Amino acid sequence: MEQKENINLLGLNKLSLARLLKNIGEKEFRSDQLIKWIHKHNYDSFEKMSNISLNLKKKLTEISHIKSIPLKDEYISKDKTIKWIFNIDKNNAIETVYIPTKTRRTLCISSQVGCAVNCSFCSTGKQGFNRNLSTHEIIGQLWFAKKAINNLQNNDFFGFKSLNINNNNIITNVVMMGMGEPLLNYDQLLPALNLMLDDNAYGLSRRKITVSTSGIIPMIYKLAKDCPVSLAISLHAPNNNLRDILMPINIKYPIEELLNACETYVRYSPKNFITFEYCMIKNVNDSKMHAYELINILKNLNCKINIIPFNSFPNSKFECSDENTISDFVNILSQAGLITTIRKTRGDDIYAACGQLAGNVQDKTKITFINKSKEFL
Ligand code: SF4
Repeated sequence: MEQKENINLLGLNKLSLARLLKNIGEKEFRSDQLIKWIHKHNYDSFEKMSNISLNLKKKLTEISHIKSIPLKDEYISKDKTIKWIFNIDKNNAIETVYIPTKTRRTLCISSQVGCAVNCSFCSTGKQGFNRNLSTHEIIGQLWFAKKAINNLQNNDFFGFKSLNINNNNIITNVVMMGMGEPLLNYDQLLPALNLMLDDNAYGLSRRKITVSTSGIIPMIYKLAKDCPVSLAISLHAPNNNLRDILMPINIKYPIEELLNACETYVRYSPKNFITFEYCMIKNVNDSKMHAYELINILKNLNCKINIIPFNSFPNSKFECSDENTISDFVNILSQAGLITTIRKTRGDDIYAACGQLAGNVQDKTKITFINKSKEFL
């Protein structure tokens, strides 16, 4: 007899859970109650769910379970940034990072095991690609982090005692900026975003969830219609020649078409602007000429620019631009009226900073993009 799959309820959004309940002869509204127990209260067993009948608990136990991804390691930086490494299977691991400050407490989540986009300045890209994460593995990072941080917060580990921090605001922002290209795992990402937004689960607003993409154009249009959260574009070069080298995805989705997609997205975006991330790499993309080119391509778009000093990682051949170069670059952009900020590096002592996440990836692909980045290696 064919064995039925035992479902992990952690990965079901309201719609899928309601469908499952209907299939077992139960009322669909119970999905809200279950989501609340699982995601708001962090329960991983049915036992203590007080408003769920014994009969429903029995049915659910037969066909489903609630299980987070297994933790492999935890690293805590001197600045209290936390990096968790989760075992996805015997040979693969992903990373999640919590970046706490008094005003915002951000969780950076992975969407894939490795990444096939192969940006030449990114540690994840260097690992290759193994597979997409499933919805329960994406949302499981948030589920786990909330529980772990709450335990630390109870002992005032972060020094937030004077602030009114509780279960609902211990994570104020989620950024899909960990390992992987989220828009290449769209079908699993979307239900995870639904759960982040669901008031019975994490109740985050669209403004507080950011999907960061290397520029998968068709999916940017799709996200605008399906679930317009905040959007960040990893740009890192102001022209196609250089971007083709740094980010081979640009050969397929060049800058002009990417900016057209951004122009459309901004009409749906909860923030009315798009963020462009620009990593400063010494003698590669950091000249004054590059700054003027950037102004030229972005001047007509509602946007903000986030300058990221390059974070080095083992075996990287790139270096970070010097402070003066970064400051000149930022001044040129600001004087042209572009809102520009410099991202403060956090957690670099535990390799948790931007571009440093590597996890452990058994590469299953031969990278198919034409990779001109060898010129730099
Ligand atoms: S920067 Fe993003 S898209 Fe590029 S290789 Fe790294 S994880 Fe993938």
